[in-house]
Amino acid sequence: MHSAAQDAEFGLVLIGPPGVGKGTQAAQLRDEFGLAHIATGDLLRAHRGQGTELGRQAATYMSDGRLVPDGLVVAMVQERIRESPRFVLDGFPRSLAQARALAEVLLVERRRLTAAVFVEAPDEIVIERIAGRDEGRDDDNAATVRRRLEVFHRSTAPVIAYYEVLGILHRIDAARPIDEVYADTQRLLSRLGGTPSSVSFTGA
Ligand code: AMP
Repeated sequence: MHSAAQDAEFGLVLIGPPGVGKGTQAAQLRDEFGLAHIATGDLLRAHRGQGTELGRQAATYMSDGRLVPDGLVVAMVQERIRESPRFVLDGFPRSLAQARALAEVLLVERRRLTAAVFVEAPDEIVIERIAGRDEGRDDDNAATVRRRLEVFHRSTAPVIAYYEVLGILHRIDAARPIDEVYADTQRLLSRLGGTPSSVSFTGA
């Protein structure tokens, strides 16, 4: 499925607590809307697996459920963003410093974000979902999940306010079955001009 709309620039940020299903949604959006899926958690895990210098530096932060320092993460993703005219960022930005760095990378190229999508669900629900995950990540134990949620509320919540003030924030209620959540996200992206998708959209 290819269309003129899929050649247009499109920049999306997915924000949400750990375990809310951002990764699954981002992968579906990648396929359906022809977006580069840039997931900082996946990139960091790949570095760690390959034993690169960055991977070694990031490892303890990751296993503690804390944020890897902004400078390292920004250096890792900025090239990917620059070379991707259409992207969905999954798990980045997670701090105001990262949000500003992203704005700067785009500004230099006279590009802008299309939208930030806050995929939201209460803590109890994401804790349950993580407990039920079967891929068994080493940072999915109870203590680390608690830390990751704390980090989300403390460091990432201001990012949501930042995009709200910029007027590009959209909220998706993720405390529902995954296919309903994804249907909402799909509709939102079609409306934002990501692609005509299967519905034809005439604009509003
Ligand atoms: P995730 O797969 O997105 O849940 O990320 C797993 C872990 O990687 C996080 O708990 C952090 O330690 C680290 N990480 C991922 N993305 C970022 C980011 N944007 N900034 C800082 N640390 C990150």
